[in-house]
Amino acid sequence: MHVLVLGAGQLARMMSLAGAPLNIKITAYDVGSESVVHPLTQMSGGDDLESAIRQADVITAEFEHIPLDILAICEKSGKFLPSTEAIKAGGDRRIEKKLLDGAGVKNAKYFVIQNQDDFKQAIEHVGVPMVLKSALGGYDGKGQWRLKDVGQADAIWSEMAECIAASDNQAIVAEEFVPFGREVSLVGARGKDGSVAVYPLAENVHTNGVLSLSTAIDDKGLQEQAKQMFTAVADSLEYVGVLALEFFDVDGTLLVNEIAPRVHNSGHWTQQGSETCQFENHLRAICHLPLGSTRLIRETTMINILGEDTIPEAVMAMEGCHIHWYGKEKRPGRKMGHINVCSDDQQGLQSKLCELAKVLDKGAFPALHEFADRS
Ligand code: ATP
Ligand code: MG
Repeated sequence: MHVLVLGAGQLARMMSLAGAPLNIKITAYDVGSESVVHPLTQMSGGDDLESAIRQADVITAEFEHIPLDILAICEKSGKFLPSTEAIKAGGDRRIEKKLLDGAGVKNAKYFVIQNQDDFKQAIEHVGVPMVLKSALGGYDGKGQWRLKDVGQADAIWSEMAECIAASDNQAIVAEEFVPFGREVSLVGARGKDGSVAVYPLAENVHTNGVLSLSTAIDDKGLQEQAKQMFTAVADSLEYVGVLALEFFDVDGTLLVNEIAPRVHNSGHWTQQGSETCQFENHLRAICHLPLGSTRLIRETTMINILGEDTIPEAVMAMEGCHIHWYGKEKRPGRKMGHINVCSDDQQGLQSKLCELAKVLDKGAFPALHEFADRS
């Protein structure tokens, strides 16, 4: 099998690593440089997109902000999975909100803003405090504003107006501020036959809008709610592949924050913590192979490495610590790699995280230190 991935970042890289034992060969299309590359070496084999599409058995994507003309070419080949509709829902918050409403899953009250008059109506309809998000192009907390007080409205409007004017078809989605207790996400796969296999929920900690820690949790009530919402969304899209749903947990009731029509950062823990990792299950689903077991095999936390390209060797020496680098050039705040920390039980995992906090810098790993300080 030969899979072409739109996007040549760490997700394509990890798909490539997971595909090799199954004889699934991955080629990646770097949308920025418009070149077809090997996802591990980033070397170009000389193919253009058309020939890469011709040679592929299946085409998929590692991110949702894909130019529509490229999506259209891939869709036309009849090889693209999950679907253009799913990718658009992940990349445009207006479409995403409609999808969630249509599938009957709970999400935060919202209002779409195109002009200043809409903004006034949004304040009436949604209320203050409110979170404002660009409809297109947002990720890692970028393209967002918080309106805490109506007095800030004019200042925020001038920034939002600039954002709307800067790109075609842009708008702002105003959302009620959700007073959540924590954030969790569900990663799962849906096969071509409609079979669904979801992983245990992960509890996620964000630092400045970027995921920093993700831990598989065992909560039957929440898991049941999350799986029901996952199935509703995946079925409504006739989804094939791995899909992630991010939730707010408000006193035991889940509200969907957003969806990602792809493998997801909050599912990286599955590489060591589950019988079959999310990358393998995505490939299994899109290649029409049986889905692999999503069973938890050991307690696992994933720690994102942000803006650092080295970590102390003591981490590698620690049993149960697995480092995954992405081979990227260092930039402040950039996702450079992650560490999966595993243990047989929760107590053991907690001690290991505290041990790690002693050797990892507080400036680079603030969420880990906060966790250790609380423990
Ligand atoms: P991602 O990197 O996950 O794609 P993103 O930039 O698309 O992030 P969101 O996940 O929508 O943005 O928001 C980033 C974070 O902001 C959330 O994880 C959550 O902590 C906070 N947040 C978003 N929406 C709300 C809301 N309605 N109420 C309260 N907090 C919110
Ligand atoms: Mg998010």
